Amino acid sequence: MVARRLRARLPALHLPTVRLPTVRLPTVRLPTAALARELSSRVRWLRARWLPAALAVGIAILGAAQLPGSGGTRQEVLGVDAAASPDGPSATATAVAGVTGDLHAISDPNGQAAVPDTRFPSPAASLTWYRWPIRNARLTLPFGPSPWGSRIVDGKRFHDGIDVATFCGDRITAAHDGVVLAAGRHYDAFVGWRGDLGPYTARLNEKNLWGTLPIAVVVDDGNGYRSIYAHFWKVVVKAGDTVKAGQLLGYEGATGRASGCHLHYGLFSPYEVASFTFDPVAAAHMLLPTEEIARVDPLAALPPMASAGIR
Ligand SMILES: [Zn+2]
Repeated sequence: MVARRLRARLPALHLPTVRLPTVRLPTVRLPTAALARELSSRVRWLRARWLPAALAVGIAILGAAQLPGSGGTRQEVLGVDAAASPDGPSATATAVAGVTGDLHAISDPNGQAAVPDTRFPSPAASLTWYRWPIRNARLTLPFGPSPWGSRIVDGKRFHDGIDVATFCGDRITAAHDGVVLAAGRHYDAFVGWRGDLGPYTARLNEKNLWGTLPIAVVVDDGNGYRSIYAHFWKVVVKAGDTVKAGQLLGYEGATGRASGCHLHYGLFSPYEVASFTFDPVAAAHMLLPTEEIARVDPLAALPPMASAGIR
């Protein structure tokens, strides 16, 4: 009843027809041409950037696979680069028995390891991400034949690394990311001697000669190569430490046989099968092996000298 009455009182509701205006959406023009250009330039960039890298890796793998143990090319390179480890008798440093991990090349001088790793060594010139371990320095002795070298290559005395000098106490930093294998005076087991280090170590112990050795750092650069830094006054890393390129390793000094404060920097691959001869007179005196794994010229891996103010 009530509802009907109420309805009668209510005027009929005439809702006006609402006409929605036609909305005209603006035509959106997608920049397809520009987009296509952009995409294709990216593809070109990717191709330019990655294809050669992929090819290089492929070629390197093939090349390594074809070089038995890495012989041929290496031998020639050797005359040019080669020996390194701390200078002179210092090179001779300490021997810690017990060789670890990837050192099979060391315990297997002839490269006859059961499972040869054909990836290494890659040529030193193909190494990347190296930086100078010291800046604004003088290159006082390059890698190569030198009357001051303690190694012998092709019948000539040979310096098996580079010597760079600034001032005593200057910062020496890692040339490459890696893992510290040795820091201090017990590094000889890691620098590629071919032979028994037992007599040498025994002599050092017996005559208490460890203090005559240079303080050095050996780093596994993680690329099939090891960096050797020698003659520190003091080191701030220890075996087992992971280091980043540019990280402080220690301070420049003149420990071992050195005429003044400098850094001896050496580079070698434990997978290399070629050898350098160690001065036979010094070897006999120090009871060291007469062979070490051949070194490469660090300048092949380091950036241009001028970029770090090296002269
Ligand atoms: Zn040197």
